[in-house]
Amino acid sequence: MDNLMFDEMGMMVVSENHCCEHFEPNDDALVPMRECWCCKWSDFRADKGNGLSDGYSICNYIGNAKEAVNR
Ligand code: SF4
Repeated sequence: MDNLMFDEMGMMVVSENHCCEHFEPNDDALVPMRECWCCKWSDFRADKGNGLSDGYSICNYIGNAKEAVNR
């Protein structure tokens, strides 16, 4: 993901296989891959209805929010 995308709340939109240095494995991931889908900061496994396409989710890590990234 070369071009960063953010939702209307300023949270980063991530694809399943994206990863960043703030990755932390989700508690229920048995053998977590280093990608957003297995990261505790993403919403991939939540019942969300956030309007994003399949394969995309929000990163809830505040350090990746638009305001933080653009400082
Ligand atoms: S969900 Fe966020 S914190 Fe986790 S790896 Fe992806 S971009 Fe990084």
